[in-house]
Amino acid sequence: MAVRQPSIRTTAPHPDLLPRLAAIVGARHVLTEPGDVGPHLVEWRGLFHGACAAVVRPGSTAEVAAVVAACSETGTAIVPQGGNTGLVGGQIPFDTAQIVLSLQRMDRVRTVDPAGNTITVEAGLTLLGVQQAADAADRLFPLSLASEGSCRIGGNIATNAGGTAVLAYGNARDLVLGLEVVLADGRVWDGLRSLRKDNTGYDLKNLFIGSEGTLGIVTAAVLKLFPKPREVETALVAVPDPMAALALMDRALARLGRSLTTFELMPRFGIDVVLRHGEGTRDPFANAHPWYVLMELSSGTEGTLRDVVEVILAEAIEAGDVIDAVIAESLDQRLDFWRLREVMSEVQSREGGSIKHDVAVPVAATPAFIAEASAAVMALVPGCRPLPFGHLGDGNIHFNVSQPLGMDKAAYLARWEEMNAVVHDITRRHGGSISAEHGIGILKRELLPGVKSEVEMDLMRTLKRTLDPKGLLNPGKVL
Ligand code: FAD
Repeated sequence: MAVRQPSIRTTAPHPDLLPRLAAIVGARHVLTEPGDVGPHLVEWRGLFHGACAAVVRPGSTAEVAAVVAACSETGTAIVPQGGNTGLVGGQIPFDTAQIVLSLQRMDRVRTVDPAGNTITVEAGLTLLGVQQAADAADRLFPLSLASEGSCRIGGNIATNAGGTAVLAYGNARDLVLGLEVVLADGRVWDGLRSLRKDNTGYDLKNLFIGSEGTLGIVTAAVLKLFPKPREVETALVAVPDPMAALALMDRALARLGRSLTTFELMPRFGIDVVLRHGEGTRDPFANAHPWYVLMELSSGTEGTLRDVVEVILAEAIEAGDVIDAVIAESLDQRLDFWRLREVMSEVQSREGGSIKHDVAVPVAATPAFIAEASAAVMALVPGCRPLPFGHLGDGNIHFNVSQPLGMDKAAYLARWEEMNAVVHDITRRHGGSISAEHGIGILKRELLPGVKSEVEMDLMRTLKRTLDPKGLLNPGKVL
């Protein structure tokens, strides 16, 4: 079976809805024209095409609260949306009576506190915008994703986004100190605290983080900032296999601990695809190698890293764990190395159909997982081309599989669920997760009961009923 596009329900919205929303946010912020609404209804990879009554763009927390209250009173379902870069379809509506609540106009930095190392921002600020605001205060906001120019911090929080700096700084959940959330009935929970320690009862913010818009609308957040690194070393390293890559990581962690901020694995096939289709990309090595690691280290003190990195790489070459390595000599070269990794997601579509898996296994099990899953998918669809890449340091592999050359794309994509089942089985055998960082949304909703116990499912449904008794916040997603 291919990915199932949910059928569109063609229910009429409540007759009072659109005039009430226009009175709250202004008529020009209630979009109904197909040309305006269209970009909000298509998932980034084109997997899902939705429909809605309107896209509503409030400009403040008070407006969000009033919109949500009006929706509650009219029985209107709300699909919150940030940058629409989510990869499990959670941000797409499938009912002509629903509204998309776009947070994009709420993009202000409310306060920066360099002494306390915090920043308070609205949910619609792009992740890049948060990084830039931190940088302007001589601080680092470390969350980093290839989609950072488009995704919004509210979306990052709602999906508990991961990315390329989790190894040292954790995922979005670890970077949030406080939240402001509009609840399903329109009340505002002001939890914008900037405390590093606060054991006063249940940790409510963690309920909303990663809840994919099903429990409340995040309108603002207090985020942690960090000292800006004074020295960064970036190396592209050729390794014989993922096991050797892990040995290199072990060596780097033993010497440099949290200075190791990025450790990303890429197979040769991925580099080939990037070089074929990624504009301005080039191979820094003279020869092709089976696997590569993009490794980045940062330090708060200048002039401390380079020598250690060279020693680590020299020892790893001696041990046979590294074939060759290039350390970036300039900012341009560093950006070139990063580009190889960053365009790896988007260029895969140029090779035809690609069946995706965003899985995590215990870090030490990653090489076995990659070997077993590659063999299994090649047995299932002979000629398919596995492209396992991503966050090796977190045991999080994007196990994507490109179609066999010459195969009909639709016929290949029709095997999506069958291939998912094979890969997820292997993931489970290794004690892993079928969704490491992208969430459940609609894409993996049917799979959730298979990986959660009855007790967990029951607790999640109870929380959903308590926080959203009318079932109007992103219905049909996650649960
Ligand atoms: P959207 O797509 O708009 O929404 C995602 C979900 O959050 C939906 O369920 C939506 O209803 C909900 N939501 C959005 N805003 C709010 C809000 N304010 N309040 C409540 N709910 C809300 N993800 C990673 O984790 N790591 C990666 O490395 C990574 N790389 C990516 C690379 C590319 C090229 C692309 C296209 C995507 C990548 N992603 C990655 C996925 C995606 O960028 C993240 O999931 C991101 O956090 C989504 O943010 P968004 O603003 O686009 O959210």
